[in-house]
This record gives sequence, structure tokens and C-alpha cells, in this order.
Amino acid sequence: MPATLATFIEHGTQRGGAVTRPAAIYVCPQCKGPLAADQQALCCAACAKTYAVRRDIPDFIGDDLRHSKNWSLRHAGFFNWLAPIYETKLWYPIVMRLAGVKDVASLPQLISTVAAMTGAVSGDLLDVACGPGTFGRRIAAQATTVFGIDISTGMLEQGRTYAARENVPNVHFARATVEALPFADARFAAALCCGSLHLFEDTRVALREIARTLKPGAQLVGFTFAATESAFSRFALRHGGRLFEAKSLGEMLSETGLGDYTSQTFGSALLFRARKG
Ligand SMILES: [Zn+2]
Repeated sequence: MPATLATFIEHGTQRGGAVTRPAAIYVCPQCKGPLAADQQALCCAACAKTYAVRRDIPDFIGDDLRHSKNWSLRHAGFFNWLAPIYETKLWYPIVMRLAGVKDVASLPQLISTVAAMTGAVSGDLLDVACGPGTFGRRIAAQATTVFGIDISTGMLEQGRTYAARENVPNVHFARATVEALPFADARFAAALCCGSLHLFEDTRVALREIARTLKPGAQLVGFTFAATESAFSRFALRHGGRLFEAKSLGEMLSETGLGDYTSQTFGSALLFRARKG
């Protein structure tokens, strides 16, 4: 069973002799200052903000997102609806086929490719827009602890259920946006961003915030979609998605402090890796 947030707050997570506590892990997503923890909430005195904790998942978003400019934020309800089927045959294989992904078209193939690109992580791993921990909880054995963030409560709760069922003890979930991560600077030894970069409102803002939380030399590994001539590309662009060219993604990563860029394309899937300088 994963530690509940209550036991986590009380006792921390012990692994390899080091004890980590949430007050030392989550910070205020606005001012990046420290949070005081009790069993129901995390509180920022400087911002006079209280972040609720429900079913062990801190909520750093709180407000109604239906009026957000960003499609994904406005449609968080869609992702809640999607959560129970996201890892079944009803979602990934269909989307991957429609999108024209080749060679890594099954979810297990994609996960093992991302896991190999990530390698052993000597510290904690940030899983950005983690969904139900699709990648993070399967790569958790390669890291000390995985911290997954997503905007969808349904996805996070599904992830918590999966992690408990699969006995993955070192994964924690929080509701947060990529633009306001509740983590201190240079906190993570690696980060994942799998299947979501094309959904963020401003890619550079998102990448800059991820880079902020990485230690020097830490890798960001992920996959997104490359622009193709397919109907999927046209549909995605019409619905507020973004599609990338391998070269321009590398330039964008470099602008945000992430160098040593490498990428591989599998049909429309663009797998990438970059390292904080
Ligand atoms: Zn604050």
C-alpha cells in the first residue's frame, strides 16, 4: 500500500535510510514558500492560502477551471470521465492508431521505451500531467519517489487506486498545473512529460517551470505528437492542441534551459530527451 498523506506527514517516507516529509517536498505553487501541514490541508502563511487534501491528494488548483482560456483546463471534466478507461484498450491503442504512431504503438512498448530513455534516477522523479500514473508508477522502481501532478482529480484518484492495487509504495499524487508546480527549485533528479506537452497553453512557460524544478544535469524525458498530414493532426490543431517539429522542439527546450536534446519519431509520436544545463 502507498503511504497515505496522513502517515506521510506523520512519518515521512523512508527509503534507503532517508526520510522525506511533505513540508520539505511540497511548497506553495504561487510564492514557492514553505507550507505548514495538517491532516486536511497544506497552508501558505505568506499567501494566506489553504490547499485542501482529499483522499491523500493535495489540491493546489482548487478554483473552478471552466472559464480558463486553456482547452485542457476548461475540459478537466472530460479527463475525469476518461480516467477509468485511459489505460484500457478503449483509449491508448485507438488514439495511437488514429494518430499514426508506428513501432511503439502499444502502451507497454511506449512505456518500456520511455523507461529505457529515463534510466536509473538517483533521486526523486517528477511526473508532469501524470494521468493515473501511467508512466510514473511503472518507472517508480527506477527512482526514489515519484511525484505525479495532474489537473484531473479523477485521473489522480485512479492512479492512487492502481498504485495501491499494484503495491507501488513510492508514488504520490497532487493536483496542480504545470505552470505553477508545488515544488522547490532544483528538487528533482529527473522528470517525465508523457502525452501532454501538446495540451499546454504555452509550451515555453510549461518547460521553464519544469526546468526550474530540475537539478543541474537532470533529464526531462517525454513524448508528444509531431505534425503530420493526417486527419488526426488537423483535428488536434482545430481543437486547440499543438503539434511539434522535432527541430523546433529542441530549440524550445534549449531556450528554457534544457540542452543535450535528442529525439526519435515513430510515425507521429515524437519521443524526446533533454538535460538541464
Ligand atoms: Zn504562497
